[in-house]
Order: sequence, then structure tokens, then C-alpha cells
Amino acid sequence: MKFVLWVAGVLLAVAGVNLAFDFETGGVWQLDPCDPQEIGTPEDTISSIYRIENGNIAERCFGPSDDDLFRAWGAMAQITTAEERAGLRSFAIFDGAFAAAYTQQLNLEATEFTIAVRRDVARSHGQSLRHVMAHEFAHMLTNHTSNVFSGEKVPTVDCLSDENRYGCAGWGNYLATWTYQFWPEQEVVRLEAEYRSSAEAARRCSEYSGFVTEYGATNPGEDFAETFAAFVLSSRTPASAQSRMNFMSSFPEIVAIRDRINAAGYNASDIYLEGCSR
Ligand SMILES: [Zn+2]
Repeated sequence: MKFVLWVAGVLLAVAGVNLAFDFETGGVWQLDPCDPQEIGTPEDTISSIYRIENGNIAERCFGPSDDDLFRAWGAMAQITTAEERAGLRSFAIFDGAFAAAYTQQLNLEATEFTIAVRRDVARSHGQSLRHVMAHEFAHMLTNHTSNVFSGEKVPTVDCLSDENRYGCAGWGNYLATWTYQFWPEQEVVRLEAEYRSSAEAARRCSEYSGFVTEYGATNPGEDFAETFAAFVLSSRTPASAQSRMNFMSSFPEIVAIRDRINAAGYNASDIYLEGCSR
């Protein structure tokens, strides 16, 4: 079976929508992983939240019991180990028009996160759902302190985005390397004003090749997350994306994730990501 991934072009967001922290005050913030007002967005309505402890789902801490939430969590558990998702503090499901899913950073130290999934996404085809979960996991990976504050901080897009005011990607960060390798400087500069513009993504998609989806052309973070998901799930990608896939292949720890998912039978090899071809 061959089908086009339905999430292509649909918003998949990363943290920062609700952060009250202001760098200039030197303030410290910590969001409550079980408070829908703190982890949610103005556009969505979180219906249930479960606490995550040591990478495993623990008690329900907001809303009613929810089978859709467990389905989404099941997909996350298929593709990640408890150790890999140890930074998660909660997992939520929401109804609303905002992003298919999003990853929210909970503390300044960038060690705690929550992931929220839209209900219709939680009910979607297993391969599509795993793509979304792998995409969000990639955001957690590149935003985690071990990847953000390692080594010297460099002025990548992470410093330009209001969504990432808590720190810049370090040289050791996948995302910093990724940005320097695949994003021309003039495009990084443009992101300062248009970090999440779908019109800009469409323009880049028409001017450059190599993206696995048009959504990936939104910014380097989405580009990395889309490509990471395609790689670890062994999805089919356009030939033009080969150098991006080679980037993923160059990290043994990412290859190990792919091989583990494949061995468990949880790949998404029926998915064909169209890239920017029209
Ligand atoms: Zn995303």
C-alpha cells in the first residue's frame, strides 16, 4: 500500500507558545505539567493529561480517562525507549484547530517536556501516528539541555526564534550542525521575522530541493523533525533528500533507533514523503 502522509503540511509545533519567561529579567520558570492552562495554547482545549514518570505513563492528573490518549502513547512507546523519553513529564490530548501535536518545554533548564496530541491524529493510521510521534520526539531531542547547552553556543536559528529564547543551539547540537549544513544564511536571517510562515515554507520549497515535506521548509527545527521521523521510520523519501538522510546515517545513535524500530516491525515504510516535488 502506498499513501501520502496526511500530516504533510499540517502544523506540528514545538514548544514556546506559552512561555512566560523573560530573558531580561533573568526569571526562572517552571510550567506545571498537569495544568492545561500552562501547557496548552489559546487555540486548543486539552481534555486529558497523564503524568509521565521515568519515561512511563503514570497516573491521570487532569480530565477523564481517554482511550485516544493511550493510543497515541502506545505509538510513542513503540518507537522510543523509556530512557529516551525520560524528559517527558506529561502527555496530553486535545481537541481544537492548533497543530497536529506539539512539544512544550516545561523549565528553563530544558530538561522537562510535555507532548500534546490532537484527538483526530491520535485516531489516525498507525504509520501516520508514529510519524507524528517521531517528529515530536525529535523536537524534544534537539531542545533538551544535553543538546542545547553542550559546548559553545552558536547563533543559529534557535537564537533568532522567539520560540527558543531560552537558549541557542550548541555546536554539539544536531540542530546547529543541521542548520549550518542545509540552511543558507540568507534563509536563516529571514526566519527572524517569519519563523513559522507557511507562505515562506512554500516559497523555499519552490526554490530549494532536499526537504522531505513542504512543512519541513518552515524552519530548521521542522526540517530536522520531519527528516528524523522519515529516517527512523524508514519512510520513502525523494532522491533529493538523500544528503539529509545521510546526515541522519552519520549518527550511530540515530541509526540504532531506526534499526530497533525496524526490527520491532514498527516502521512506516508504506509512507511516501513527497518532498517539494509538484
Ligand atoms: Zn514540529
